[in-house]
Amino acid sequence: MLGILGLGFMYTNADSVTIGLGVTLDDLVENNYRPFEVLEKLKQHPTIAPLIEGGTLKEYSAHLIPEGGYNKVPKLCDNGVMVVGDAAMLVNNLHWEGTNLAMISGKLAAETAVEAFEKGDFSRKTLKNYERKLQNSFIMKDLKTYRKLMPIAHERKKAFMCYYLKKINSFFEMFTTVDGTPKRENYHKFIKSIFTDRKFSELLKDIWALIRLVWSILI
Ligand SMILES: Cc1cc2nc3c(=O)[nH]c(=O)nc-3n(C[C@H](O)[C@H](O)[C@H](O)COP(=O)(O)OP(=O)(O)OC[C@H]3O[C@@H](n4cnc5c(N)ncnc54)[C@H](O)[C@@H]3O)c2cc1C
Repeated sequence: MLGILGLGFMYTNADSVTIGLGVTLDDLVENNYRPFEVLEKLKQHPTIAPLIEGGTLKEYSAHLIPEGGYNKVPKLCDNGVMVVGDAAMLVNNLHWEGTNLAMISGKLAAETAVEAFEKGDFSRKTLKNYERKLQNSFIMKDLKTYRKLMPIAHERKKAFMCYYLKKINSFFEMFTTVDGTPKRENYHKFIKSIFTDRKFSELLKDIWALIRLVWSILI
């Protein structure tokens, strides 16, 4: 595990597989990784490697995903112009939504364009209706719900993406291992290990980050 924010994916097609990953530019720059190096690591993962062994590369590409979130959404309209989809930063990275937000924002902009056409007025005053529609739609509501997700996740990324992921794996390893050790003993050992692995001050920071995260999503 590289300890950077992001996730990998694999789509199975009719006679090929598509393997990819999404990572932040900040992490690539900070760690001096090039995108293909991170992809190579993913391809060498023991779960992926056997599935592509002997395969040949058909095509590859890289693309920026604008994941600035709610606070970075630009001005959405002006005289004679409306901004939709990726250009308007409409991406919900947690749920991997971008295509649907592009389609719905496009639909709302198109409806507004029809209204403007009927009025014969393409000024900002009329096109602002698009912004209102977008604000009332699930798109802006969802982006607002997750407005603090990335800043908090970045703050504690080493903890969340390295330590706790490994800990979750080791929990389930312990949970599914049959070795004659009484289960309660295993649980106690596991809980104790968290307190010995991590400084108490770091644990408090992790818990505080989690509370802030859940609070910002639910309230
Ligand atoms: C690897 C990856 C995985 C993704 N997975 C998902 C997913 O699982 N689910 C999901 O919902 N979203 C996903 N997305 C996000 C999704 O692809 C985008 O949010 C969505 O395509 C945005 O649509 P758009 O029409 O706004 O922009 P785009 O799809 O980028 O379309 C813009 C178009 O404009 C063209 N263009 C650019 N400049 C000019 C110009 N000057 N003149 C004419 N044409 C121009 C471009 O060539 C392009 O065809 C993923 C993105 C990536 C990169």
